[in-house]
Amino acid sequence: SPVIVWIRRDLRLSDHAALHAAGQAGRPVIPVFIRDHTVDDLGAAPKWRLGLGVGHFAETLAAKGSRLVLRAGPAREVLEQLVDETGAGAVWWQRAYDPASVERDTAVKSALKDRGIDAQSFAGHVLFEPWTVETKQGEFYKVYSPFWRAVHTRDVAEPLPAPDRLPAPESWPESDALDDWRLGEAMRRGAAVVRPWVQLGEEAAQARLGGFMSGKIGAYKDGCNAVAEDGTSNLSENLALGEISPAQCWHAGLRAQEAGKEGAETWLKELVWRDFAYHLLWHTPHLPESNWRPEWDGFPWNEDERRKEVIAWKRARTGIPFVDAGLREMYVTGRMHNRARMVVASYLTKHLMCHWKIGLEWFEDCLIDWDPASNSLGWQWTAGSGPDAAPYFRVFNPITQRERFDPDADYVRRWIAEGQRNPPETALAYFDAIPESWAMSPEDDYPEPVVGADEGRKAALAAYENRDF
Ligand code: FAD
Repeated sequence: SPVIVWIRRDLRLSDHAALHAAGQAGRPVIPVFIRDHTVDDLGAAPKWRLGLGVGHFAETLAAKGSRLVLRAGPAREVLEQLVDETGAGAVWWQRAYDPASVERDTAVKSALKDRGIDAQSFAGHVLFEPWTVETKQGEFYKVYSPFWRAVHTRDVAEPLPAPDRLPAPESWPESDALDDWRLGEAMRRGAAVVRPWVQLGEEAAQARLGGFMSGKIGAYKDGCNAVAEDGTSNLSENLALGEISPAQCWHAGLRAQEAGKEGAETWLKELVWRDFAYHLLWHTPHLPESNWRPEWDGFPWNEDERRKEVIAWKRARTGIPFVDAGLREMYVTGRMHNRARMVVASYLTKHLMCHWKIGLEWFEDCLIDWDPASNSLGWQWTAGSGPDAAPYFRVFNPITQRERFDPDADYVRRWIAEGQRNPPETALAYFDAIPESWAMSPEDDYPEPVVGADEGRKAALAAYENRDF
């Protein structure tokens, strides 16, 4: 009987344990992607990028003589229906670790098993599954460095090859048309602007990895902070949708390390930050929802999104060039440099004293590399309320950060048009990406700071005084 392989955020053929096992089983394979609530609940940019990824993966499967069946509805109902239609005796998939997926997958597994179906999940979305790493006291890790020490010498299985063949069933079940799902609808004008920056699919991801390994990884230790340079791998976009696996990245990093590339260890550590984020999300599923450190409950964050400072931040018109440049990079490319993410998040949560959830949700709507674990950890870490957080009194100074990491202001000029006689296309593209209702033009004057760097820092420190953090 056929095997249904339930494809989720793992849009690749190689190092895909469920597809690999199905390919080896010598049975017909029916790959299916389900538009359920976890897809409908995505923000505008991640949903649009997912749609592109699913379309591309369907073509990849077609080139192998297979197909991607598309269905919409609650996953359990859809899978039960497909089992009935196709006579499949097995449903296999790769595990996910975010709370919504865990809850859904647990229910799906037990429902299918109750019907006598071989329901199996496989590892692959992280390097080290969250329950496999524990402290000597048998607890989960709350601090990154000991987590790194606990995992970095572990063996990570060599990536699996793509299945040689995926035998087709005698007849294919019906499929929705991807266009009818309109996954890109909420992106509106932004889609045309961001599209040229997207690197879609497994081949592009492998090319990115290969290019980085033969180039920038050597200088990554400093290069990872130079915001105007393209010194990082840019793989987050592909990792977020599983167009490449973390194990493929890990092994490439190890080979670079063996070849004596200096930045390799720093890069491997960053990959492990991604795992650490999943470790924390799995053990503390409230990470995206509420202060990880309860001492922060009751802290008087601004939560009113109508405030002029919040509007200025969202529109990238805070008057602080580094902050505005980072946000504009996000609107134009769908991604933002890590250094800028920290500065932008610090400015919102410290200088503007806004709740980190405002920023978390905004990124969730705008990032094509949105990741439920890394985004939550990134925001809570910067705000000070999270695990292993920056000390709460550490307020990134957006002026000195710019001087240090963008000394020639190239990054700022790349993204901010106002005040330049001949702004580059990158800076002008921002005005095509944003809603027309924001009524902004490159000829506008660049604004005065909505909250100045020193003034904001003092206000934040005063607010922290006498609190028991
Ligand atoms: P590289 O520097 O080449 O690193 C390789 C990989 O390691 C990345 O692709 C990523 O998977 C992982 N990684 C690197 N830095 C981190 C980090 N600090 N935390 C977790 N994983 C990391 N990353 C996302 O993928 N999605 C998000 O939604 C996201 N939101 C963030 C929000 C905030 C407020 C902050 C401060 C950080 C956030 N990050 C997020 C982490 C980080 O900014 C990005 O992973 C990084 O910029 C991706 O660029 P790259 O692929 O070139 O990374």
